[in-house]
Amino acid sequence: VEPRKPLIAGNWKMNLTHLEGIHLVQKLAMSLPEKYYAKVDVAVLPPFTHIRSVQTLIDGDELLMVHGAQDISPYDSGAYTGDVSGPMLAKLGCKYVVVGHSERREYHHETDELVNLKVRAALKHGITPILCVGEGLDVREAGGHIAHITAQLRAALAKVPAAQITGEGPTLVVAYEPIWAIGTGKVASPADAQEACAALRATLAELYDADVARRLRILYGGSVKSSNVGEIVAEPDVDGALVGGASLDGAEFAKLCAVA
Ligand code: PEP
Repeated sequence: VEPRKPLIAGNWKMNLTHLEGIHLVQKLAMSLPEKYYAKVDVAVLPPFTHIRSVQTLIDGDELLMVHGAQDISPYDSGAYTGDVSGPMLAKLGCKYVVVGHSERREYHHETDELVNLKVRAALKHGITPILCVGEGLDVREAGGHIAHITAQLRAALAKVPAAQITGEGPTLVVAYEPIWAIGTGKVASPADAQEACAALRATLAELYDADVARRLRILYGGSVKSSNVGEIVAEPDVDGALVGGASLDGAEFAKLCAVA
């Protein structure tokens, strides 16, 4: 069985102008020697307005990182003011799209059903969803975190056949992001991350089979920095990180990728 190559994905959220975004990609490219890309996949996930500029830079300079988006419409086109669709993102070379992030579940009232439609829209257009699941502090303290995240995973993958996530093209990335650790500086312990990621992998094995589960990457997200990423990705079922705050500093993010 080939080992899973770690993925470090930088979720810029609603930060930086597109000019600052270009600068960040340049800084990252200058700070991370090319040899590291043999060991780690690196993705940047800018706001929609920056994607064309970032794509031009990555393609034009043959940078080894890839880019993606932070959201996708469940629909291909139509009267959905303000939304951006799978065909639009695919045309801009997006390899990944974040789906089910807790900020969208909370501030945009995204339900498990909508998350499922977005996962399917991404796969339909050849984009790998980075599917986020995670529990709030209340659920964690009541001991319900494993039941919560595995239920989110099952709901998000309804009507997604194995063939759609195991081929040559897009696949699936799952990210365990405990809400109490996002942007709080409070990182889950490596053991907590491992427990959750292992439970998610076991659920993938139930939904599909052990081989599919063994091949898919499961990330941890929540206050990951260059100083703590090492011990987290050392856990057997943690295959990388989804990084918010620390992805906005080119030198720090490069260091984080190098450590991973
Ligand atoms: C995130 O929201 O995906 C995230 C992990 O944020 P941060 O790294 O800032 O906690």
